[in-house]
Amino acid sequence: MSNENKSIHEFDYQLICDYFSRIERQGPGSPEVTVKALSFIDKLNETSKIADLGCGTGGQTMVLAQHTQGSIVGLDLFPEFIALFNKNAQLQHLQDRVKGIQGSMDKLPFKAEELDLIWSEGAIYNIGFERGLREWKTFLKKGAYIAVSEATWFTDERPDEITAFWQDAYPEIDTIPAKIAKMQACGYIPVASFILPENCWVEHYYKPQIEAQKVFLQQHKGNKTAEELVANERHEAQLYAKYKEFYGYVFYIGKKL
Ligand code: SAH
Repeated sequence: MSNENKSIHEFDYQLICDYFSRIERQGPGSPEVTVKALSFIDKLNETSKIADLGCGTGGQTMVLAQHTQGSIVGLDLFPEFIALFNKNAQLQHLQDRVKGIQGSMDKLPFKAEELDLIWSEGAIYNIGFERGLREWKTFLKKGAYIAVSEATWFTDERPDEITAFWQDAYPEIDTIPAKIAKMQACGYIPVASFILPENCWVEHYYKPQIEAQKVFLQQHKGNKTAEELVANERHEAQLYAKYKEFYGYVFYIGKKL
């Protein structure tokens, strides 16, 4: 198929989907970490309504489903991810209470105070931490929980190279106390926060990409955008190896007041 008539945005979009559909997770995390974050949340039962925003292909959603009894709606902007998500739910016989829908996290299809839990791993940055916490709160019942993982500085000072990288990628990155203060200012009790261990990045995120990159590059031979995409991902992995003591992902769990 010719790409002549596609806008560069459309082209990138398809390549990004293609690339990230090849790996189980689209962001750092692990089943152990999902279960740990869930351990801070009480009062869930078979009537609970849960939303997983920016769910991707559903790696963490299926873990969440195995450890809760309620119904879960996974929402993601990319229909390709949602198709894989629903296939995964079916394979794990979870399709009766786990449903993937295409949509945007800035226009959620839920009713006010409908949800018992909002989950979002490595995805709230798309709308911004503070905006997401404020806007999503509407859909939570009083006393209900939110659990999100978010890129965070571990120190007040750090090398220029990594500051510049994140300033460009996600300027809302901040330190743990600053993120917790924001959570409180947005109307939540900050119940817990913890740093995702290194294996969430290396074993569960960057390592599966190595094999996927080889096949991806073979299938898109000569495609400059595909090569750039892989180069970007490799650069990001190298930066992580070099500067991991200065930043990482942190899970923040809050309870709506
Ligand atoms: N939670 C998954 C995916 C994280 S990657 C995991 O941890 O593996 C971020 C996800 O956010 C991607 O799947 C991307 O498609 C999705 N996304 C980006 N913008 C979005 C938006 N506006 N609304 C919903 N999802 C969005």
